Amino acid sequence: MILLDRVTKTYGIKSKPAINRISLHVEPKEFVILVGTSGAGKSTLLKMLTREEKPDSGKIIVGGIDYDDLKDSQVPYLRQKLGVVFQDFKLLPRRTVFENIAFALEIVGMTNREIRSTVPKVIDLVGLKGKEKNFPDQLSGGEMQRVAIARAVARQPKILMADEPTGNLDPRHSWDIVRLLEKINSYGTTVLLTTHNVDIVNKLKRRVITMEHGKITSDQAQGWYKQ
Ligand code: ADP
Repeated sequence: MILLDRVTKTYGIKSKPAINRISLHVEPKEFVILVGTSGAGKSTLLKMLTREEKPDSGKIIVGGIDYDDLKDSQVPYLRQKLGVVFQDFKLLPRRTVFENIAFALEIVGMTNREIRSTVPKVIDLVGLKGKEKNFPDQLSGGEMQRVAIARAVARQPKILMADEPTGNLDPRHSWDIVRLLEKINSYGTTVLLTTHNVDIVNKLKRRVITMEHGKITSDQAQGWYKQ
């Protein structure tokens, strides 16, 4: 579960709040789309959840963890519960598909044996069988995003946050990625997707939360979006 209660974050002293008294409740296993024009505060909201940024005020509870009680030393543990993917994939260029995913498991202390059994399963899940030895520059954009998603879900996070994951992809690859996110969601992972893609939002028929100027201006159960 994700709970935000009147969360505010301002970056500079003279700036307007990037998010302004945001309250939000997301149930486990929900699929939520976050929309809004550039600068609306979507990335800031996600950064609050990953603890990349701290709020000025308000309460955040994710998966039973109250961020007020969270010590800096516990942030890596929190991030294990959260998978994150970005528009620009953020893959390690000199590592193969297998190694990119394995690395994410190494850093959380998984044994080599566990890694060798886990990585092929997630590669299979994201549909990249046969590409294990490819380097990122030998992949299409859609495939790179699949690697990023595989890396994010390999640790079996409770929540997967995808910040504009289709921003660099053509429509066909975008839909492949969205379908993959739906599949991951169907296995019980909460998905939080930010996107500008009106077509995706309107065809998915999922909960749509619209942000404008740091506020939530609409929250629809099976929403749509008009730019
Ligand atoms: P979105 O993801 O919806 O495009 P952001 O959360 O990135 O919106 O930005 C919200 C507001 O916060 C914008 O006005 C942006 O300029 C500002 N902002 C975002 N990140 C920073 C930062 N690191 N430093 C200063 N201002 C920032």
